[in-house]
Amino acid sequence: MERKYRFISNRILKNSKGKETGKMRVVVKVGSDTAEIDYTCPECGFSEHTEKPWKRPFSVKCSKCGFIMRLPRLKDEIKREKRLEKKI
Ligand SMILES: [Zn+2]
Repeated sequence: MERKYRFISNRILKNSKGKETGKMRVVVKVGSDTAEIDYTCPECGFSEHTEKPWKRPFSVKCSKCGFIMRLPRLKDEIKREKRLEKKI
């Protein structure tokens, strides 16, 4: 039987120096509000599988070093994130 997903994404992640050293795969099944995540932290290289509630904008915190891995998609979400970064 064919599996159906609400959302699926594979991303290359940059570390704080702008190097592409990590990755994140996010999958949300149809009928589920839980995102299943496999990531490799670009900052410290830690890898794990984790799950968290699905919402936009989506971000995952590395459970080893605390680096925030964001999942941008829509242009206005990226703009909003940049505005938030400026505030910080
Ligand atoms: Zn990390």
